[in-house]
Amino acid sequence: MIKKLIKILVLYFGPWSLLRLMKRRKEGAGISILYGHRVLSDAIIADKNDPRRITGHTSVSEVEVAILELIKRFDIISMDEAVDQLGAQGVNKESVVLTFDDGFKDNFKYLLPVLKKYNVPATYYINSSVIGTKHNLWFQSVINYFFAIKENTVKIELSNKEYDLSSADKRYIAAFDFMQYLQTNYKPDKFHEVIESVAGVKALPNDDDYHLSWDDLSILAKEPLITLGAHSYNHYPLAYCDEKQSKFEIEKSVTDLEEKLAIKIKHFSYPRGHVEDFNDWHIKVLKDLGISSAVTTIRGVNRKGQDLFQIKRVGFPQNISNDVNDFLWYVGGIPQLIASLRQ
Ligand SMILES: [Zn+2]
Repeated sequence: MIKKLIKILVLYFGPWSLLRLMKRRKEGAGISILYGHRVLSDAIIADKNDPRRITGHTSVSEVEVAILELIKRFDIISMDEAVDQLGAQGVNKESVVLTFDDGFKDNFKYLLPVLKKYNVPATYYINSSVIGTKHNLWFQSVINYFFAIKENTVKIELSNKEYDLSSADKRYIAAFDFMQYLQTNYKPDKFHEVIESVAGVKALPNDDDYHLSWDDLSILAKEPLITLGAHSYNHYPLAYCDEKQSKFEIEKSVTDLEEKLAIKIKHFSYPRGHVEDFNDWHIKVLKDLGISSAVTTIRGVNRKGQDLFQIKRVGFPQNISNDVNDFLWYVGGIPQLIASLRQ
């Protein structure tokens, strides 16, 4: 409660507003880039046992709350505008960019109407291997498997481990533990094969969980509010791929989208996007393809002169309406500001 009160005071009246203004005078205005994944119905997000309730997935009404709060305080701009401003042009106003990764069908079905309602732009980053298929990305198959098991434990011979599945949180922990096992023991192009051998049909998606189709993407490609970007072919962690494979993963996603949709792809999102998930080789491959920006999941606000191949982002919380001030606190980059002032 006290923490909440301090945040309200700081956001609206407190000394941090002054410090933020000072920082802005010194370093210029900032662009916060938000990233989300699935945008689902309120009923799914409310169901604690639903595997789609994972962090990074939110609901239509929560996105609407976020947009209403953001448009009061920021300009919501496109990724093209953000890249121009972070480069030569300079950032003249505190702004926000909305981005959504992984290309799920709900981004078309549920999210697009909300964006249109408020006339707000967004960028969708697509993994082309699953477009128009009934397959999941590899990590989604692992999550589906650990949620589809009826029992409260499972013993997997392959990893020689018994996993506790007694709650939804434990099922996530088990899924992420198994993902780590896969990454440590197998080359990424073997992930699907191994998951299928362990999980069988339990790894398959529900009807509701498919990705966008090429028809959906053709419509999105013509939609002025939407920018399409690439997110690799299979969503393999690029750092676990050798140079040849990571080049293929990046190139294939870009060329698939360009050839099938007859558009130029200018933006990329690194799978997972932590600092250890991409390197100079990946940046070189992107630059050779004519890509002009790449986003990470490194938290922070971007200002003029930001490295356009290491753009920072802030995750979309699942329940924004629970604590709007907390949401604005992160979007405004206050944690990074406090950290920089402490240095
Ligand atoms: Zn992703």
